Amino acid sequence: MNTIKIGWIGLGTMGIPMSQQLVKAGYPVTVYNRSKEKEASLKEQGADTSPTPGTLLQQTDVVIIMVTDDKAIREIFTGEDGLLKANLTGKVIINMSTVSPAISKEMAALCTQQGNHYLDAPVSGSVKQAETAQLVIMAGGDENVFEQVKPVLEKMGKMAVHIGETGAGNAAKLAINTLLSIHTQGLAEAVVLAKQNGIEAETLLNLLNNSALANPFMKIKGDAIINNNYSPAFSLKNITKDLRLAKDIGLSSPLGEAALQTFADAEAGFGNEDLVAVIKHLDK
Ligand code: NAP
Repeated sequence: MNTIKIGWIGLGTMGIPMSQQLVKAGYPVTVYNRSKEKEASLKEQGADTSPTPGTLLQQTDVVIIMVTDDKAIREIFTGEDGLLKANLTGKVIINMSTVSPAISKEMAALCTQQGNHYLDAPVSGSVKQAETAQLVIMAGGDENVFEQVKPVLEKMGKMAVHIGETGAGNAAKLAINTLLSIHTQGLAEAVVLAKQNGIEAETLLNLLNNSALANPFMKIKGDAIINNNYSPAFSLKNITKDLRLAKDIGLSSPLGEAALQTFADAEAGFGNEDLVAVIKHLDK
């Protein structure tokens, strides 16, 4: 039985399978989600619930956050019932959302003022990796604090690495997602070009998946294209959010700029679908 009391905020596509790993590992877990109906599956597994982020912090030692963006993070920390309103001390707050290094630095400073610790610890990998505890976790912040909570992080991932100061995890994640977007657009463009020349997606993907270019991402997203299944593992609007954040920290490369433009153009029509739905925009 693990005795650290874990609080979990954000039960979306990623938050549910990630928090379930901690319940499975035997930690006492208390959850909070803005939309209460999403707490049901965790309750069934034995997690407690708490009505607000502030009350959650009171009841737990380590709080982990997995929500959409900077705006959500600001509300969770500084909102009326937010974490900082609880006015507590000695807690560790781990933000695993993909957000800007700037918001991490701002929230870390507020946590330090109250005598709490903040780590940014975003993840690479999607739902499948979350369900199998195979995420790659990159952290920024105090290395000693990271070492204290590393065993908790390792219940959700195959590796958890300290990268540097506050915000370094976020910056590494934005670099990874820049490549993810370029990779996705490249795959979509190849499938569209093949199709324009009479070659079915299935035929091209069979070639690609057996070539030196084969990789797990291509297999998963290739299958999604073949099966016309664009239900979101990682939404197109969220990769567009990340490219905008990458631009804010200096993204100005030819491929990165092009990907931002493409995904931003696709967002209005396909934002709530998986990022590989960019193929529908390119195929128009
Ligand atoms: P999601 O399914 O859209 O879930 C978003 C979560 O954030 C929900 O729990 C939502 O609450 C909560 N939220 C949003 N705005 C909020 C606010 N203002 N106050 C309180 N809660 C708020 O997103 P996801 O796919 O799980 O992604 C979560 C984070 O992980 C994002 O930063 C994303 O970029 C990153 N990420 C995603 C993947 C992936 O493959 N999906 C992979 C790696 C990293 P409600 O239920 O009330 O809406």
